[in-house]
Amino acid sequence: MITLPAPDLSDAAVLRLVAGVRPCRRGGLRIETDSLDTPGGAKTLVHNYGQSGCGVTLCFGSAQRAADLVEQATGAKADPGGAAGPRPPVAVLGAGVTALATAREFLSRGHAVTLYAAKQAHDTTSNIAGALWLPTGIDFGATPDARALLLDVLNRSRRAFLDLDRDTWGVEQLPVYEPDYAPYEARYFDNGTLEPPTPLERLPIPGPPRAGRVFNTDFIHTPRFLRTLTDEATARGARFVQRTFASRDELAALPEPVLVNCLALGSRELFDDHAMFPARGLLLHLKPQPLGYIVHDGYKYMFPREDALLLGGSFEIDVADPEPDQRLCREILAHHRRFFAAQ
Ligand SMILES: Cc1cc2nc3c(=O)[nH]c(=O)nc-3n(C[C@H](O)[C@H](O)[C@H](O)COP(=O)(O)OP(=O)(O)OC[C@H]3O[C@@H](n4cnc5c(N)ncnc54)[C@H](O)[C@@H]3O)c2cc1C
Repeated sequence: MITLPAPDLSDAAVLRLVAGVRPCRRGGLRIETDSLDTPGGAKTLVHNYGQSGCGVTLCFGSAQRAADLVEQATGAKADPGGAAGPRPPVAVLGAGVTALATAREFLSRGHAVTLYAAKQAHDTTSNIAGALWLPTGIDFGATPDARALLLDVLNRSRRAFLDLDRDTWGVEQLPVYEPDYAPYEARYFDNGTLEPPTPLERLPIPGPPRAGRVFNTDFIHTPRFLRTLTDEATARGARFVQRTFASRDELAALPEPVLVNCLALGSRELFDDHAMFPARGLLLHLKPQPLGYIVHDGYKYMFPREDALLLGGSFEIDVADPEPDQRLCREILAHHRRFFAAQ
């Protein structure tokens, strides 16, 4: 029985083509303590990058882990008003979702925060993401420690998402329908953050009859989510500074004694991390359509974001060109038209 509305995929509904570049990393997340030598002594540096294809999903958990590392590294300095004085001011490098969530965490722990970034949130990959709350497009890690880090980050992030005021943040739970030929990733569910999918003999969506499965997860309307993060940080006194860093010396010259690196792909050059690689994703934006469900078939997906219906997509490894590929976009549209074609 078909109960759900069909999307309007006509030429007249197409608004624009968009491309974003995911900050992927072989080996998965890097959240660890480092230091930066300066003439005045070493500064604490904590890395928080490698979120790859699911940085929105991981943002709050990775922010908490990074803040924990800063508190461990700075020891007594983290004791507010204690013998060693107030909490140290923090320079958060970047202004995408990872940096904004990190700033939020430090602000809530009583640190003064300045965010330094070449591009502000609306102009980053983070604003292009859909975003589905699911650990997709990331290397789960080759070692038990790497896998444990990702699972801890996922669990913390899940709890933080559940605590949000959903209207303010633009987060809603939606059913996600997957045809049964779509790849099934048990590891997205066996970590305990989401209920596993329920099999369905027939998906309740328009198009040819097909079996599949459904699960529920959060959908994050990223423009509203990023605006809320930015507004909240500003209201709590964070400063935003437009800066492009070309060397570690420039970072060392910042006035803050603690730096948290959320520079995503920028970490490849600045920190010689050649495990980082770009993976381009293409999207078509169609006129907004509040369909109330998601279709997900690996990187062929449909997300009803409030500002546009998003049709994905692609995962093009080592492609960093932010220009949308017209031919591939036409293929994405043709795929979705076939998927929903009336019988
Ligand atoms: C098409 C697409 C769909 C996606 N869908 C999802 C999804 O459904 N769910 C999900 O969870 N995730 C999704 N993602 C992934 C998600 O967008 C990323 O993981 C996330 O945005 C990474 O955030 P970030 O803050 O680490 O990096 P970015 O958003 O790239 O921000 C990096 C920041 O660092 C700054 N910077 C970098 N280098 C320098 C430098 N040298 N000097 C100064 N500043 C610098 C930039 O200006 C920017 O402010 C998707 C991505 C794409 C492209």
